[in-house]
Amino acid sequence: MIKVGVFGAGGRMGATVCQAVHDDPETELVAAVDPRYSGIDLRTVTGVDAEIRMSRSPVAFERSGAEVVVDFTERSAAVENLTWLAEHGLHAVVGTTGFTDDDLEVFRSRFTTSNCVIAPNFAIGAVLMMHFAAIAAPYFDSAEIIELHHDQKVDAPSGTAMHTAQLMASASKEWTPDPTTAEVAEGARGGVGPGDIRIHSVRMRGLVAHQEVLLGTAGQTLSLRHDSIDRTSFMPGVLLAVKRVGERPGVTVGLDALLDLGT
Ligand code: NAP
Repeated sequence: MIKVGVFGAGGRMGATVCQAVHDDPETELVAAVDPRYSGIDLRTVTGVDAEIRMSRSPVAFERSGAEVVVDFTERSAAVENLTWLAEHGLHAVVGTTGFTDDDLEVFRSRFTTSNCVIAPNFAIGAVLMMHFAAIAAPYFDSAEIIELHHDQKVDAPSGTAMHTAQLMASASKEWTPDPTTAEVAEGARGGVGPGDIRIHSVRMRGLVAHQEVLLGTAGQTLSLRHDSIDRTSFMPGVLLAVKRVGERPGVTVGLDALLDLGT
């Protein structure tokens, strides 16, 4: 039985993780940290039927004997949280997005006695979409990414969109240049991601997490689309990472590293 703690336990993703960890026969939810709900019974905030008082401080993880801690918070909080976990030798499974390359370098230097798995998207369908986009990239001349999320998401573009562009840029360097010479409304062409691939971010009430990768070449286009219509879509990936993080020294980025996707 793996003892698991959760940072951001009162958040949308954190609460879903608490439920998934509680329901899995191989994992045990032992501590929940979320400053907003400090001192409150986890059951009243999340509905998860576990007798745990939510804490302000990660010391609760040490006290409860947590071996793996899951973080779904926001970038600046996660940077502090991961520093604490690395210093205290606890494994980390991280779904928080918005990290910079410098953040990842810092994590790599800090996780020396315990391990860390960071995935911008824990949904298997999204991981496959990214994988297929990288396979398709060398056969197309143009590519753009449209990511669509709920109206509470604070970072843009999404970590999934950035990671997708990174994989596609690594698979192909040959993209046709942007033809735009007059941008009538600023930002109309989206943000420039890795490989100069354009990324467009939609924020809309009613959505969860969605992405479309558009690829084009002479006379044809290919659209790859993934929709997470419920936060439970991320849970099998989170639980896989919780169970495997102990086997992966240092920092692992991307759930694909834990799956056998072939080439
Ligand atoms: P959310 O509902 O705002 O939840 C974040 C929670 O973390 C909030 O309750 C927040 O409290 C809490 N928090 C902030 N600082 C903290 C700290 N230092 N220690 C512990 N808890 C802290 O956001 P969400 O929708 O769950 O998303 C969380 C993150 O997951 C985002 O970065 C999002 O992009 C990412 N995400 C990743 C995936 C994936 O598959 N990798 C999927 C979905 C979402 P306050 O409200 O008081 O700040």
